[in-house]
Amino acid sequence: MILRSAARLRQCCGLDGMSYPSASLNPMAMNAQKSPYSASMGPRPSISPDHKTLDRDTVAQLPKVELHDHIDGGLRPSTLLDLAQKSGYSGLPDAIMSQPEDARADALEEWFRTSAESGDLPSYLQLFAHTTAVMQTADAIERVTREAVEDLARDGVVYAELRFAPEQHQEQGLDLQHIVDAAIAGVRTGEQSAAAEDNPIVARLILCAMRNNNRSTEIARLVVDNAGDGSGYVVGFDLAGPEEGFSVREHAEALELLRENLVPFTIHAGEADGVGSMKDALALGASRIGHGARIYEDFGASLDGIELGPVAARVRDRTVALELCPTSNRQTGLVDSMEDHPLSLLYELGFTCTVNTDNRTVSGTTMTDEMLLLGECFDFGYDELLHLTLNAMDAAFLPLPDRQRLARDLIIPAYEELVGDPDMRGTSRTDGSSHHDDGADEHDPEGHSHDHAHGAHGHNHLGADTLNIDLGDLGLDDIDGLAGLDGLDLGDLGSDKRE
Ligand SMILES: [Zn+2]
Repeated sequence: MILRSAARLRQCCGLDGMSYPSASLNPMAMNAQKSPYSASMGPRPSISPDHKTLDRDTVAQLPKVELHDHIDGGLRPSTLLDLAQKSGYSGLPDAIMSQPEDARADALEEWFRTSAESGDLPSYLQLFAHTTAVMQTADAIERVTREAVEDLARDGVVYAELRFAPEQHQEQGLDLQHIVDAAIAGVRTGEQSAAAEDNPIVARLILCAMRNNNRSTEIARLVVDNAGDGSGYVVGFDLAGPEEGFSVREHAEALELLRENLVPFTIHAGEADGVGSMKDALALGASRIGHGARIYEDFGASLDGIELGPVAARVRDRTVALELCPTSNRQTGLVDSMEDHPLSLLYELGFTCTVNTDNRTVSGTTMTDEMLLLGECFDFGYDELLHLTLNAMDAAFLPLPDRQRLARDLIIPAYEELVGDPDMRGTSRTDGSSHHDDGADEHDPEGHSHDHAHGAHGHNHLGADTLNIDLGDLGLDDIDGLAGLDGLDLGDLGSDKRE
């Protein structure tokens, strides 16, 4: 049985007609704790949950944090064309190259956008053959990296972790360190030119090893050599590439080297493969999960609400950040439509969610676009955007004082300015104290969240007054894990279970 709606679940469980005075008594909400707010990022302003309409210009200007952005997925189309011409790369589709020269960049942008709708990760990854082909010289790598930093800064991103796989840039004989140096030079000049444009940004690099290659230990060594004391431009490691059929465990040696040297790493998992892939990533020491959207496959349902399996519980309870990339996740076939994306559900269940682009050009998106999508599809407002931004800031591979400084000096003030508009001000607090200063409310293991801003305003999908919501809103339409209810003999679940 696929649960099509909460009403259906209620009916099945004989709960029809019952009402729940608070979220804590709502059987669907027993496990709902909402994404925890990290106090280490400092006090945050209270933003009215009533104010739901996201304005593009406002969102574009708000400070954003991007943790998952592939340099080779974000080339400016004009730069790709220019580099292709200079390098003699002739592999771009005829449909692009047959266009008049001044129309090619737009055509290429559109071609990526439509080609990305492949529905599976291996097809999606084929698009990168065109981008990495033109990034085989130090100058090209430096230019693309610098432009990525500039473009992110123009989109209001104040902190970005850009990633790429050095092993894919050796076709013309560059050695790995030379490649890393070129990317570092690009980050440095990108930060400088963005600052000159009055768009301050801090950018760092994550070096990826490809899961389908056998060079991860070599790349891990490269990261260790460049990461140093954590204050340099290289801050972490990642495993990227096709997930299914290429186990994390094949790269155990690389991950051990990183652990021994206290270098943090994230791993693409739970994107094109399921819970087992995420379990391996966690067991081998990943600090964050790249995507991790399929963590919902470790959910079950009972009369106590949604129940987390051991991997999901580990991710939520140890606040392992999920680098969710909604548009990319839809394009690679995780969901058919954005409304089905599990981000909203994961957020409401207390997972540490972050929102990211994955590949700005290939996926045809920006951080602003991703945030606006959350507003359109999940009714997220500025309060949730701030929450996601601080989650990302806190999960960054930066020293804590640097994360706190960015939150305190750039992120919080911008949202406080937003709250300067009386319509935006939260109504739950009038004394100017932090909306989240009562941490017990956020972390109450019993879920006794009585006047939680979202629940109190009917926004919380799992709140007391929203039992009539369709589970499709939560992306639950096709969650196999919930089909576990199918096997329940509901007649055996006596009324005492519901009291
Ligand atoms: Zn990725």
